[in-house]
Amino acid sequence: MSMKELLKNLSEACGASGFEYSVQNVIKKELEGHVSSLTSDSMGNLIAVKGEGDLSLMVAAHMDELGLIVKHIDDKGFIRFAKLGGVPDHVLLGKRVRIHTSKGMVEGVIGCKAIHVMKEDERKQLVTYDKMFIDIGAHSLNEAQALGVKVGDPITIYMDMFELGGDLVCGKAFDDRAGCAVLIELLRRIEDPPFKLYGVFTVQEEVGLKGATVSAFALNPTVGVAVDTTIAADHPGAQDHEAPVKLGKGPVILVADGRRDSLSGGLIANAKVREWLVNAAERASIPYQLEVLEGGTTDATAIHLSQRGIPAGVLSIPSRYTHSFSEVVSLNDLENCVKLLVEAVKIGLPSL
Ligand SMILES: [Zn+2]
Repeated sequence: MSMKELLKNLSEACGASGFEYSVQNVIKKELEGHVSSLTSDSMGNLIAVKGEGDLSLMVAAHMDELGLIVKHIDDKGFIRFAKLGGVPDHVLLGKRVRIHTSKGMVEGVIGCKAIHVMKEDERKQLVTYDKMFIDIGAHSLNEAQALGVKVGDPITIYMDMFELGGDLVCGKAFDDRAGCAVLIELLRRIEDPPFKLYGVFTVQEEVGLKGATVSAFALNPTVGVAVDTTIAADHPGAQDHEAPVKLGKGPVILVADGRRDSLSGGLIANAKVREWLVNAAERASIPYQLEVLEGGTTDATAIHLSQRGIPAGVLSIPSRYTHSFSEVVSLNDLENCVKLLVEAVKIGLPSL
């Protein structure tokens, strides 16, 4: 299967934070016969193992995607929702959604009152998510319930992956199914790693790095690397210095990330891990970009604070419009990410 098909399968699977089951099933199928063991823990993290040894590497990619959850169904059958993860309000209106109920999937659309009935000052304001609702075509609470919808059902946004020009593709949940695709390919291509390789597909990253927190503690790896997407803002409306990463210019090796203004709450990548990744890129003649990212972080933050401190780094895939449901990535960047990791594994873990 090509990287494009693999990414499409993963992108179109549905798995809001805390409800990653169907993504897990897609990954299990892809890895069958390629790893020595494949198990899941009590939280739902999927852990693949390849190779043996005292030293170990944990490569993490999160399975969850940004989503919503049913909060209330009113007497007329309209559904109010809460957010699962950092969903920006302005990308929600008009979206086609899928509510995953115990009776199966129910489709709906996110609505709000039409501009025609808004007052002058209302028209100029951002419509916030609490003023929106989901219309599933039910006429009453009873009708909605009969369809299976109840409080707590997870909701995902509907979006099929499609191709743009060159090697670019557009779809939902590339954050972090693109990372999952890279990790699957790494596990397939590596035959005999010189250490124990853990491929960990984590849960609940978007709501607080939770899956990585417990799996890093349990596995206690020598080194940890998160594979995630990062912000490419090489488009109108953003200046180079705001988000210097560019699409198609290769994988991104993180130097530091965290909250805007302070980089607190994030990761300052272990210098030896970072240099190991840089060395791998240079040895395999893969273009790469270095990054200091304000306003976000990854599973590596949870990994590096686990146990007595686990040296960790991040390898990222540039992505435009991240945290919208129409992200754009370059398939070449994904391929180069795999190649870089394959080379890093061949080199062996850095001496710490
Ligand atoms: Zn992510």
